[in-house]
Parts: sequence; C-alpha cells; structure tokens
Amino acid sequence: LTDSLSKLVDKIRGASHIDEETLKEVLKDLQRALLKADVDVKLVYELTKSIEEEYRKEEPPSGISSKDYLLYLIYNKLISIMGGETEAKVELTKRPYVILLVGTEGSGKTTSAGKMAYWFSRKGYRVGLIETDTVRPGAHDQLRQLAEKLNIPFHVDPNSKDAVDIALKGLEKMRKEKVDLIIIDTAGRHRNEEELMKEIKEIYNAVTPDEVVLVIDSTMGKQAAAQAEAFNRNVPINSIFLTKMDSTSRGGGALASVVRTGAKIKFVGSGEYLEDVELFNAKKFVQRLLGMGNLEELMERMKSIEEEDQVLMELSEGKFNMLTFMKQLESMTKLGPLSKLLQMLPMTMLPAPMRSLNDDQLEDAQIRMRRWLAVMRSMTREELMDPSVLDASRIKRIALGSGTTPKDVRELIRQYELMKKMVGELKRSQRRLGRFIKQ
Ligand code: GDP
Ligand code: MG
Repeated sequence: LTDSLSKLVDKIRGASHIDEETLKEVLKDLQRALLKADVDVKLVYELTKSIEEEYRKEEPPSGISSKDYLLYLIYNKLISIMGGETEAKVELTKRPYVILLVGTEGSGKTTSAGKMAYWFSRKGYRVGLIETDTVRPGAHDQLRQLAEKLNIPFHVDPNSKDAVDIALKGLEKMRKEKVDLIIIDTAGRHRNEEELMKEIKEIYNAVTPDEVVLVIDSTMGKQAAAQAEAFNRNVPINSIFLTKMDSTSRGGGALASVVRTGAKIKFVGSGEYLEDVELFNAKKFVQRLLGMGNLEELMERMKSIEEEDQVLMELSEGKFNMLTFMKQLESMTKLGPLSKLLQMLPMTMLPAPMRSLNDDQLEDAQIRMRRWLAVMRSMTREELMDPSVLDASRIKRIALGSGTTPKDVRELIRQYELMKKMVGELKRSQRRLGRFIKQ
C-alpha cells in the first residue's frame, strides 16, 4: 500500500497540472492502492468519491496549485479516517479499569503491556500486569521482568495451563492491591487459530474488560487487516496499539485494520524499550504513509487561508473589529501590489472613488495600508478587539511602537470607524432584503 501511495504522490507532484484525465487516473490509482491493502471495496469507493466531489466543488484557494489542493484533500481525508488531528484520548473511566490485550504472537503484546504500564504509571496511576499466556515458554518470566523493572504489582502462574483461571486469580489479586489499571496479556498462538480465539473469548467473558486493545505489528502489512478482522469477530476490538513504528515500514496495514475494525489507534510503539511509547498522532502517521514529510508547509498555507476565510465569514456576518480589519489588510497585501489587485477585480465591485485612481494615488494608498498595518501590529489584542479603549496615552504608545505619529493612529481609527459603519449598514440592508423576500 505504502509503496503505491507514495508513487501516487509522486505522480501528482510530477504532473504539470491536474486535468480531467490526471484526476481520474490519480483517483483510480488511489483506489487500486487501497484495495490492494484489503481495504473494503465500499469504503474505497466512498473515500475516492468524496475526495473527487470535494475537489470539484471549489476552485483551489488562491496561491494553492490544483495538484497541491488535490494532495491536501487526500491527506485530510486519510487523517480523518485515522482519527482526526486531535490526539488519541486515553481515559480511565472507572477504577479499576481493565484492559485486555490481544494480538498474534510476536506482534509485541507483552512488550506493549509493559509500555502501557510505564505510560500510565508516569501519569501517576497504579498499574498491575497479568500474564495469561501459557503457550509461549517463558512468557511469564518476560512479564515478571517488565513488572519488576517498573516496580509494579503483577500476577503470573508458570504451573497453570488454565488461562481463564490465571486471569481471574490475577484480577482478585490486583483488586486487593488497589490498582487503577489492570492490563491482562494473552497468548498469541495456540494449536490453531480456533483454539486461540476460543481461549480469548473465554477470558473476555470471564473478566468483562472495559477495553480490548488489539496489538498490531506495523511491519505485517497486508495480513494485519485480516488478523484484525479475525480478532474483531470474536471479541469487540476497542482500540489499537501499533508496534514497531521504528522500522522502515510505513504502517499501511494499520490503515486497513482501523477501517476493518472501526477501532482507533491509541498508542504507538517505537522501539524495544519500555520508554519507546507515544500517543498516536494521525497527522504524523499519514505523512509517513504517503511518504511526504514536506507536506507540513502546504498544510500551514492551507490553514492560514482557512483562517482568512474565517475572518471573511465573520465579516459577512457583520462581526467587525480592528482585528478583522487587520486580517483583511494583511491578506490584501499578501496578494501583491494594490494596482494589480484592483486590475483583477471587476469595476462594479469597487467603490466609486477607487475606480479612477491614478498611479500616484494607488502608490499613496499602498503606503497608507502599510502604515496602518504597522500601527495595528503595535496594538494589544484587547485594543484590536475593542478600539474604543484607545485613549490619548495608548495612542501615543502605539505611535511610538510603530514608528508613526499619533495623527497616523487617529487616521486609522477614523478609517476603521467608517468601515465599521459600512459593514453595519450592509448587514442592515441585507436583513431588510431578507424580510422583504420572506414577505
Ligand atoms: P508478543 O508475542 O506479542 O507478546 O510479542 P513480544 O512483546 O514478545 O515482542 C516480540 C518482539 O518484538 C520482541 O523482540 C520485542 O522486543 C519486539 N518489539 C515489540 N515492540 C516493538 C517495537 O515497538 N519496536 C521494536 N523495534 N521491537 C518491538
Ligand atoms: Mg507475549
């Protein structure tokens, strides 16, 4: 998946622009890549369709090329599938909170049990570990060593072959120890898959955990999703611990697993040591998945454009203060010289006095805009939000700070008041119009 995805990114980047044909091709490639990773056909279809619709809905924002815009849409979509931009939520909603850890042998379950114990211990919780793996030789020793390193309570029974019994005895012991969180590790292999699933189901039914965490090895690729689905058929997977992200693997299998189980990734393991654990970050994950570290800059640009849109929206809603005024001026100056900007606008959009400005007047307007910006940048946020607080002493301070004169500051305030009145009138006339239409 990851290989074909990064090829896709290269393809988009390499195209001179996105025409109809390239768009179709890119979407088809994206579909193919996702299908190859065993992502559900229906989901693949929905995903590419929504990206296409989104792409066609609007022109790319000014300053963003069509290919960057398409990349951004793909990127954003994948992030939202992986859980969005906010950090994974890890809450212990009751005491003690019981986590059942499942996954195939070698995926990193026992190591991850230790990592979670470490992570929650550092947050100040008391954690207890239970090992129910009776199949793998030395599993109990592995867990004992981890628990001793962390200096936390644990329960193992090298003499028992009854995983359910070990789990229940362990629970009892941990309740006495008054721990906040109990992590139950399980076997990842049995005589066959059926035996394994049967045992895990029995443990699940006996302990009724608050959360089932599936451990997925990021290097497993395509098989990961099938395994995730197999576990999910037997016990409801609530979240995922993704291991070995310190490898060169990009975690394509994890995407398909998330989609198949509907569970979100919470933790990421990035090494063999207990400390090598972090909360999952969808942004980082998708960047790595698509093999584009330099997308950050594009995302920043899109964000600032979205912020400007926000200002414009507030403006259209009649919310107008000096901060909106400043943002507006800032985005205008970003678009280049005023003369060029005016040429791009249809005459009817311009207020009458601006239609007949000569070069000198334009130059003058430009200088004034820059001066106003300097003045506003010397104001505090409070002053920008409510310029009525500006008294003589504040005006003097601002003039000093911006290398202008109090007269300049006053001129800006006057101009601002004028704009504010215009915006207010616009809003009132819109409302009148609205009433008129409703009648
Ligand atoms: P289990 O069979 O699922 O319990 O897996 P183990 O916890 O015994 O881990 C299997 C192997 O994977 C061990 O050698 C671990 O050190 C290694 N391992 C687990 N997590 C990570 C990780 O995040 N990064 C790396 N590099 N190795 C890991
Ligand atoms: Mg183990």
